[in-house]
Amino acid sequence: HRIACDARRGGWLQPAASARHLPVLERRMAQWRARGVELSLLSRGETAERLGTDAYHGALFDPRGGSLHPLRYARELAGAAMRAGARLFRRSPVRGVHRTGEGWRLATPRGELRCGAVICATNAYGDPAAMGVGRCILPVWSVQVATDPQPPALRARILKDGICASDTRRFLTYFRLDPDGRFVIGGRGAPSTRGRARAFAALGRRALALFPELEPSWRFAWGGLVALTENHLPQLVEPAPGLLLAFGYNGRGVALATAIGRVLADRLCGAEEGDLPLPLLRRPRPWPLAPWLRLQLPLATGLAALLERGAAARGR
Ligand SMILES: Cc1cc2nc3c(=O)[nH]c(=O)nc-3n(C[C@H](O)[C@H](O)[C@H](O)COP(=O)(O)OP(=O)(O)OC[C@H]3O[C@@H](n4cnc5c(N)ncnc54)[C@H](O)[C@@H]3O)c2cc1C
Repeated sequence: HRIACDARRGGWLQPAASARHLPVLERRMAQWRARGVELSLLSRGETAERLGTDAYHGALFDPRGGSLHPLRYARELAGAAMRAGARLFRRSPVRGVHRTGEGWRLATPRGELRCGAVICATNAYGDPAAMGVGRCILPVWSVQVATDPQPPALRARILKDGICASDTRRFLTYFRLDPDGRFVIGGRGAPSTRGRARAFAALGRRALALFPELEPSWRFAWGGLVALTENHLPQLVEPAPGLLLAFGYNGRGVALATAIGRVLADRLCGAEEGDLPLPLLRRPRPWPLAPWLRLQLPLATGLAALLERGAAARGR
């Protein structure tokens, strides 16, 4: 489809924020090797050389990884779908999914839509088919900030060869340079506007702690919800023939949701259940602790942040 979204495969690095995380990376590498994927472990010096910061104790390197511009990607996907005949309806949230004699009826505030099949791909943002998705996921805010393009000398020194990174901290920090040289960094967010403003500021501080020579011209800040599941895997649900739900990408949905999109299309085009790469559930699998965790999230994030600050202060 000639999707123009600045896709680059410069590899992905998972740097260890603490020496105690190195054995975890070793185990992860062994697990991938057992599946025939050649990852490598970088020493502290090699990690500093690739990233341009000596804040980390070593890293796992996956040459298959890469990055893209997610907004351009979403727009280009929409364009490709429309060229293939799809019609997109903006500002018309589905409030109800109802079975009719020959298919489905979707109720929106601006009118109804009748169709032969429905895919609910709203991930962390709702449950228009009222299938109890809220009991299966923990919706969590994630935020990012980006600078203006950094000076060429700095761009030559940090995050070499288009590499992108997400570290091993409990609330991971992930960062990269975009093709125009903007420094982009992301991490955990908060549901309230004030909380998000604090999260944006914290990301700026974190960026400068990693790369003190950055020009901190934070031009862009944004965020959204990701859906966590109990076993960290997405769920594929078919409550009735012609109705499919897919959700729970655990913050890794850019590539994964795209891949699942193909699976959903295959299923609607008649693929056998046994040929799908994930189990097809009849009902979403509940996460009994999810409603409780939702209430505890502000406390838990505060506590984890304190623990992390303590560990950083002790140099671990
Ligand atoms: C700041 C941030 C950084 C991230 N970084 C990464 C990353 O580096 N790598 C990665 O792989 N993933 C990342 N993610 C996660 C990734 O964005 C998601 O996993 C992915 O977008 C999920 O795709 P999706 O299409 O299932 O859902 P979404 O992209 O969330 O789309 C859901 C859509 O459903 C629509 N919708 C909701 N309710 C209704 C309704 N009632 N009727 C009609 N439409 C509805 C919404 O408007 C939205 O368009 C990040 C997320 C955030 C917020």
